[in-house]
Amino acid sequence: MSQEGLALAVERMRDRGMGPEAVTVFEHYYRQLEEGAHGTIPEDTIEPLADLQELGEVRVTDDDARAALRQTAVIKLNGGLGTSMGMSGAKSALEVKDGLTFLDIIARQVLALREEWDVDLPLLLMNSFRTSEQSLEILAKYPTLAVDGLPLDFIQSAEPKLLADSLRPVEWPHDPELEWCPPGHGDVYVSLLTSGILETLLEKGIRYAFISNSDNLGATCDPGVAAWMVEHGLPYVAEVCTRTKSDRKGGHLAVRKADGRLILRDTAMVAEGEEHYFGDINRHNTFHANNLWVDLSVLRERMAERDGVLGLPIIVNRKTVDPSDPSSPEVIQLESAMGAAIEVFEGSEALLVPRTRFRPVKTTNDLLVVRSDYFILDDSSHLVAVGDGPEPFVDLDSAYRLVGGFEKRFPHGVPSMIECTSLRVIGDPVFGREVRCVGDVLVDGLPRVPDGAVLGGPVQAPGDTRTVEQHLKAILSSLDSSPVESVPLTESLGLVVARDIRSRVNLPAFDNSSMDGYAVQADSLQGADESPVRLRIVGEVAAGVDPSFSVGPGEAARIMTGAPIPPGADAVIAVEQTDGSATGSVECRASVSAGRYVRPRGEDVSEGSVIVSAGDVVGPRTIGLLAASGHASVEVHRRPHVVIMSTGAELVPPGEPLGPGQIHDSNSSMLWAAAVAAGASAEIRAAVGDTDEELLAALDDIVANADVIITSGGVSMGAYDVVKSALAGKGVEFVKVAMQPGKPQGFGFLSGPDDLRVPLFALPGNPVSSFVSFEVFVRPALRRLMRLVPEKRQVRTATLTSGLRSPEGRRQYGRAVVSPDSEGGLRCTPLAGQGSHFVADLSRANAIVVVPEDVTDLVAGEPVDVMLLDS
Ligand code: AMP
Ligand code: MG
Repeated sequence: MSQEGLALAVERMRDRGMGPEAVTVFEHYYRQLEEGAHGTIPEDTIEPLADLQELGEVRVTDDDARAALRQTAVIKLNGGLGTSMGMSGAKSALEVKDGLTFLDIIARQVLALREEWDVDLPLLLMNSFRTSEQSLEILAKYPTLAVDGLPLDFIQSAEPKLLADSLRPVEWPHDPELEWCPPGHGDVYVSLLTSGILETLLEKGIRYAFISNSDNLGATCDPGVAAWMVEHGLPYVAEVCTRTKSDRKGGHLAVRKADGRLILRDTAMVAEGEEHYFGDINRHNTFHANNLWVDLSVLRERMAERDGVLGLPIIVNRKTVDPSDPSSPEVIQLESAMGAAIEVFEGSEALLVPRTRFRPVKTTNDLLVVRSDYFILDDSSHLVAVGDGPEPFVDLDSAYRLVGGFEKRFPHGVPSMIECTSLRVIGDPVFGREVRCVGDVLVDGLPRVPDGAVLGGPVQAPGDTRTVEQHLKAILSSLDSSPVESVPLTESLGLVVARDIRSRVNLPAFDNSSMDGYAVQADSLQGADESPVRLRIVGEVAAGVDPSFSVGPGEAARIMTGAPIPPGADAVIAVEQTDGSATGSVECRASVSAGRYVRPRGEDVSEGSVIVSAGDVVGPRTIGLLAASGHASVEVHRRPHVVIMSTGAELVPPGEPLGPGQIHDSNSSMLWAAAVAAGASAEIRAAVGDTDEELLAALDDIVANADVIITSGGVSMGAYDVVKSALAGKGVEFVKVAMQPGKPQGFGFLSGPDDLRVPLFALPGNPVSSFVSFEVFVRPALRRLMRLVPEKRQVRTATLTSGLRSPEGRRQYGRAVVSPDSEGGLRCTPLAGQGSHFVADLSRANAIVVVPEDVTDLVAGEPVDVMLLDS
């Protein structure tokens, strides 16, 4: 059946005029597909890249650079359609900067290099059948661009899309062009050959090609790389960049163990279940920038040896025939990646280049940054960052995702981003003229952003400050209860029971004696109060023994407390009312009524009755009851695991000697204890210094093992406020709360494994601020997770023994000692050291005195609210 599919596909390709090499390559991939190739590269077949040459360390002379550039051509992959950004034509026709399209900028970059180095430097676009016309129209503005004897573009091959089930070419009469697709950018080699361009270039003495994507404005033809290739006779060089947390997708290079060659592993080539290796940015610490350099004469040789088939690994791309219509038939597109050619060239090298060489515009978020004043185009039309901070993080709402929606909402241009660290837009406001973003900016629910607005920045308008209640509400409303889990009794203390629990047994489980004495029939002892009665001893029952005899009239059995009542007996006479004989007969000096000293079966709990209800908090006595009724475990809202990590280059673990300027990390231990006291389990991680990388790497590890993360320090406006700089805009929001201490607060969610969202509290670093923030925000949050009520600490009223001052507009949480007064009330003595660094007074305090926002002065004798910390 698929033999026929292949024949049909080949016939179509020939009809469309595809060259024999293009057909041979297609046949090659088709056969691989039929044989079930899915193109994966298992982790145990590769080793991570090591010992990379850095571009910054490559030294070449100007003469060598010029000589190398004379033998180089620039090839831009330009087949991309801007469909994901809502464009209908070539993506590179998008105006990206200063009114110029990608193609304008590329043309200008090439012209500038020619002038600077006095070289010819041909530019060639590899277009698809859909992008050629529009692209050449744009380049027509540059009459000197074309080089004698060379066209400005060549068209990449086209191949039929295959129906996923039958592997036959798909028929799509509504729009027959959709029956075709380009075979991925790996086709560049075949198309160079079939178009004859490869031959022409070599004839003109052009031996090297620099190939990159047209949407990557950082990919300029760097003469240093060309010279390095020439100097070392390298057949192939791939540019790689250091990977950060946000570069988990995209391909990376690795060394193939079998033959030591460099290979490319793309997202689609990861074996099932090995995604974690692929995502591990410490293991595979660079990514493939898709900028590469090829020695064209070696390429020609390799192609000749293999009849035009380089044998690049197959990529099986599954889509629908009409990509905009998910209900259209499923098709397979057979593709290959150009970077995969690295394995074909013996002696190829990877080169570590700066991030500036990888500046693709894949989304309108990227577009905003590139278009903004954070970048300028310099005299050579190179994109240069002018802001000194890290590149701003931008996250626009869905209304801006397509270029149409984006342009409509920035009719006067994008905001100034030079001073911006992050911009998040929720909603769909239209931005006015000359808007400036400063620091971390969140635009939420605004109908429009007025002309000249300055958003964010160090001085926030009072409206940007949240009240304690607002912040707490924002936190609590984003949290669900901890998942329900069955935990062993010894781990359930303090947790809330999730479902009603029924007894599995009767309690007592059998009728038993509550006294040491003799089991009898009550009737046998009638009249014993007047004159003693003697009963024959027929046996003895100890606790844990099942009696094998019965007790009849005139008979007795010795019995111990807790032992089962033997059959026939209905009462027990206490040993004190007998002569205590062990054998023979026993003299009894009292009568008993039936049931005397007998604990009947099920008297306490009957089997199947509810013994603990959902919502009950497990205490020691609950655990006793559960154990007695046959339960070894209990279903509860799981105890959240809190991972605590302090930040600050000055921190040293407690107990270790201090160097100059260093202090002991006290917050970690304090917060650990506060979390455990609140009922969570907790763990301290080593404190990290003040760099984003350190913090992000540590969090990366923590996020998989935490239900809640607490960081301390690094959240205010200082130069080294790492938590804020690393996490702002990445799911964590930094706000000012109208309170003292504890004004700067961060809260949000990090993404964990399996789409888990892990709440993170970024608390201020001063120990008192940290503690108060925990009390006011984290403790209620932990109680919400565990379903414990009330969530907030209870507030009592106490009488001040001395006056207090408090800032206007902020709720003050002061440290105080509260004790009973002579009238049965409470009195409150504020402590002297109210600075956020006074840990001794913090430790002495047993309460927090709460002074409302609108109160600035309190005198002795006035009532105040206090939160008791030890109750
Ligand atoms: P930061 O918020 O990082 O600027 O820290 C504010 C103050 O709290 C500084 O004086 C820090 O040295 C101090 N600090 C920060 N973290 C801790 C910690 N884990 N233990 C004790 N003091 C800390
Ligand atoms: Mg710090």
